[in-house]
Amino acid sequence: MRARRAVIPPVWSVTSLLMTEPHADNPEGGTGANGDSAEAGSEADLLTHYDILRVLAPNPGPLTLSGTNTWVVGRGPAWVVDPGPLLDEHLARLGAAIEARGGLGGVALTHDHHDHTEATSALLERYPAPVAGGRGAVDILLGEDVRFGPFEAVATPGHSPDHYALVADGACFCGDAVLGEGSVFITPYRGAMHGYLLALTRLCLREDFNVLCPGHGPPVWDAQAKLEEYLAHRVDRENRLIVALGEGRRTIEELLDAVWFDVPEQLLGLATATLAAHLDKLEDEQVLPGGVERPKFERTEW
Ligand SMILES: [Zn+2]
Repeated sequence: MRARRAVIPPVWSVTSLLMTEPHADNPEGGTGANGDSAEAGSEADLLTHYDILRVLAPNPGPLTLSGTNTWVVGRGPAWVVDPGPLLDEHLARLGAAIEARGGLGGVALTHDHHDHTEATSALLERYPAPVAGGRGAVDILLGEDVRFGPFEAVATPGHSPDHYALVADGACFCGDAVLGEGSVFITPYRGAMHGYLLALTRLCLREDFNVLCPGHGPPVWDAQAKLEEYLAHRVDRENRLIVALGEGRRTIEELLDAVWFDVPEQLLGLATATLAAHLDKLEDEQVLPGGVERPKFERTEW
């Protein structure tokens, strides 16, 4: 897949094309039906130049943004990344895309969170095909560099331990490692934050994709800039945390106030999980001062 990069049109020419090609009559109904017309240009590009269709599930929310993205890749057969939530309307659109593209070759899961995987069984009932994922009942267990259909897996832990990005033909299906808008939350299993920063750095160093196709939000054409922005964001949070600890703040509330001051109330639980992951990292690096209140969680599986 690395070798194919040369045949992908540079992003600037793709961008200029979209001005003249609205794809209003797209038979796959990918753009307008998704309800976020501002993104229609970049989705049209994905379809035209990469043969990748975004099927946006109707499950919007504070965590899922406009909804979960299911990506349909190529044709004869098509490959699906993250079947998404079990919703009739979503499955019907997915089925139509698969049939228009000559059947289903396989399903790749970026991670096993519900909003990405719930529709998998129902989809496979209609279109039997192998499933690849980082854990659980899958046919192909993903690991670093494992290939599945057109995809090459890249370990991207942090949001969950089983998280993989899938790189194929100039695109990186990055699940919840990087979103089209805003930032992700990191879960507090041991090593999560370290693994996540390493994953972002490693993705940044790759030269075999131009576009990020995230689990939520629109495709991101300047993949490198977005990855650098994500790295800078994590470093910024960590720096603020180190300053807050230096000022003597020790409780979860004080640390959230100082570091995650911009996070809306409803997302504070997730900010707390991310705080826990940052504290774990500082502890592993032996720079965490004593007496810091540590978040506790009922769940142990992320
Ligand atoms: Zn998600």
